[in-house]
Amino acid sequence: MPEGAAATPLMEQYERVKERYPGHLVLFRVGDFFETFGDDAKLLSKELEVVLTARSPDASGERTPMAGVPHHAVDSYLARLVRKGYKVALCDQVEDARFAKGLVRREVTRVVTPGTVVEDRILAGPDHNFLASVLIPQTGPAAFACVDITTGEWFHGVAARDGPEGALAAVAPFQPSEVLVADLEGPGGRALAAQLRHEFPRARIEPAPPPVAPAARPPALATPAGSETVAEADDRLAAYLERTQPRLLPFVEVVIESATAPRLRLDPKTLRHLEITRPMNPDDPAGPTLLSAWDETVTPPGRRTMSFWLRHPLADVALVNARLDAVERLVARGSDLLVLRAELRPVPDLARIAARVAGRRVRPTELAALRDGLRAVARVRAWLTHDAVGGRLEELHARLAPIVALDDLLGAALPDEPPATVEQGGAFRSGYDAELDGLARAESEGLAELARLERREQETTGIRALRVGYNQVFGYYFEVSRPNLARVPTHFRRKQTLAAGERFTSEELSAIETRILAARSERKDGEAAAWERFLVEVERHVPAVHRLSRCVGELDTLATFALLAQERQLVRPTVDDSSVLSVRDGRHPVLDRSLDGSFVPNDVELDATSSRLLVLTGPNMSGKSTYMREVGLLVLLAQAGSFVPARFARVGIVSALYTRMGFTDEIGRGKSSFMVEMTEVAEILRGADERSLVLLDEVGRGTSTFDGLAIAWATLRHLHDRLRCRSILATHYHQLTDLVEGLPAARNGHLAVREEGDEVVFLHRLVPGATDRSYGLHVARLAGLPPPVLDDAARLLKRLESEGVGLPASGRRAAATRYTQAILLATEQRPPAPVEAALRALDPERTTPFEALAWITEWRRRLVGGDPPPP
Ligand code: ADP
Ligand code: MG
Repeated sequence: MPEGAAATPLMEQYERVKERYPGHLVLFRVGDFFETFGDDAKLLSKELEVVLTARSPDASGERTPMAGVPHHAVDSYLARLVRKGYKVALCDQVEDARFAKGLVRREVTRVVTPGTVVEDRILAGPDHNFLASVLIPQTGPAAFACVDITTGEWFHGVAARDGPEGALAAVAPFQPSEVLVADLEGPGGRALAAQLRHEFPRARIEPAPPPVAPAARPPALATPAGSETVAEADDRLAAYLERTQPRLLPFVEVVIESATAPRLRLDPKTLRHLEITRPMNPDDPAGPTLLSAWDETVTPPGRRTMSFWLRHPLADVALVNARLDAVERLVARGSDLLVLRAELRPVPDLARIAARVAGRRVRPTELAALRDGLRAVARVRAWLTHDAVGGRLEELHARLAPIVALDDLLGAALPDEPPATVEQGGAFRSGYDAELDGLARAESEGLAELARLERREQETTGIRALRVGYNQVFGYYFEVSRPNLARVPTHFRRKQTLAAGERFTSEELSAIETRILAARSERKDGEAAAWERFLVEVERHVPAVHRLSRCVGELDTLATFALLAQERQLVRPTVDDSSVLSVRDGRHPVLDRSLDGSFVPNDVELDATSSRLLVLTGPNMSGKSTYMREVGLLVLLAQAGSFVPARFARVGIVSALYTRMGFTDEIGRGKSSFMVEMTEVAEILRGADERSLVLLDEVGRGTSTFDGLAIAWATLRHLHDRLRCRSILATHYHQLTDLVEGLPAARNGHLAVREEGDEVVFLHRLVPGATDRSYGLHVARLAGLPPPVLDDAARLLKRLESEGVGLPASGRRAAATRYTQAILLATEQRPPAPVEAALRALDPERTTPFEALAWITEWRRRLVGGDPPPP
């Protein structure tokens, strides 16, 4: 054992690596394992559920904790670590342990961080993986830069608002997996880190390194950004890449000025409340989202584009309509669309394969997939020729033109079915490289000689079963079974004894062996060198492949919008510069799917000039929140370029969407719900302008009714008089409805219910005007409040109503606000259901089977048939 238990030199080597890579989890190759020691070992064992052991006691009797993973499976463990936000340094053996004198040389061969990975097996799926860099200056808005090194896309700009909130809002739609924060220990940095941790619990937060020198900027960023702070965010991001993925830095290609790009701003809370790509309930991470309802794409670039578009809808009439035009044309192709999707389906993740070429982590099989994928793209392009008559589809057709030199290169170099790794040999097609062919010939000549030798020895010894074999440890040998041992000739030398026979070598055999092994190792070296030369050639096309991949993603997404339009009764929205939001028979895009036809469609009628504020009342469960989310999602879909679930829709472009639902969000973090709500409302009122759409659910809920009512009222006035944007506000304060009557551009609406005797049926239909009653009592009955409580509540309600309660502003009523649903629902008791009471009263001892059956039948009839239960 070369590196035994007490080998402190090994630990010294390990400690030196640890020192050079602070903050990294160092995985240290020892034999067939990657090991960790000390605290890292404890962490590894906890995070990956691998066994925690200990090294043998050292000189001072100390037993260092130790945990490791087998080297051949290291990628899957890396994936789990990186997705949990760890930064890992892989320290490998860089010389063959068999030939090493003393301690094997080890070096860090890879640093893997959540925002800089390129391997498919480590990335969590085809969605973008963004690394962000954020800078919060003393004054003015934060600057940011975000890059996806696997696709070459780089976004940067300044936040729409100052401070950490603005910084968070700017990067949140990118869903970064790693964020570099300049001055992380300063007050702005610390506040941002706290908010990031809340919003993206799995993201790695890292102090940003000092900026690179201008000369080290990637070519695409050679002309510095207009603003000094943005340039600094860029340069810090570049500096981090230079340390972690230097090979990929030059391949950053598109730089998009996010600040000037007309995009629909979605703040972090809106992204969450609308459940665009992540469900709100953390306990149900696979719950339905807009993405899960809308993503019928068939390629990885398509999925990535769909997810990005839904998080970054546009806010420019011409750009939106260009997408809608393309979708409309594709819809018109009818069932032919299925052919396009079939042609798209075999296209692999072109962009990421290209990134792995640049990062030198690509396998021969992946390049074969790239080759075949490019052929599929040619068929896709042929399909599109039909529609290349102007507009975005014509542009896509032009941009999907083949990269001829790359097609030729891959076609000539790779065999039809290449090996999984270059080390296995045979990564090149014969005829591609004369030198390699020569080396391969030398090896096969040696093998042919071996076969001749085998035949000759069989004949001379008369041992028909004599075989030449090979294994890694002993090399080539003759194998002779036990019964034939007597006939072994004298020039055979024994090598190894087995149960069934013995293995030998001879002078001639070892000579041939030497030649074969030399030829093989030369071929391997030759192939490795040829592979590198080949990748240098392929690498020249990385930017072109990235561009092609983006076009495939865009086409796949547009074709998916078209398919959904065909299959789900969607309509093309009219998107214009007006301030109108008008929808007939709109449906919630996600619920409409899960309710499968029973969703009740509703209209939307807002106009910033004349009718900008809708105040929604209606009992709990009547559909207020659903309606508001639906409105938000329809606008978002329209501005992403999708058709929408409605009979008609007109969307005057919205620049920012603010949504607050429930306000229950951060109560668990020790803030009072009222404080949370007020902070959130304040954020909206500060950020919104007249092109915004504001959706506020249950304002003023988290406090005693007086404060809440007053604040809801003031908020509503501010929205109506000052911001003058389109807004919908749901409230249980019926008193607000009186106020609305006095505002020229505000209206009341409610979600209708029908009373059937004592029951309330929710119609989920929006009707104009305020509800005349709260239906709180009905809801309370549905919720199962005991009858005495309900009776008492009914008496109290009558008295309150006759005393006349309401707002001083209405001038008609005295201020008393105890009349709300909240009072009536504020009890935990539940009476037994009638069937439960009846069951308790039943005595099984005195019941015949027939009576029991009759009892069940009767109760089932009452429950299903809706008969009133017996008194
Ligand atoms: P509220 O906010 O008024 O309490 P919700 O919007 O939470 O009510 O809706 C309660 C339930 O009613 C939802 O879970 C949904 O299943 C159903 N619902 C709401 N709107 C509709 C609709 N338009 N069509 C069918 N079901 C609906
Ligand atoms: Mg609600």
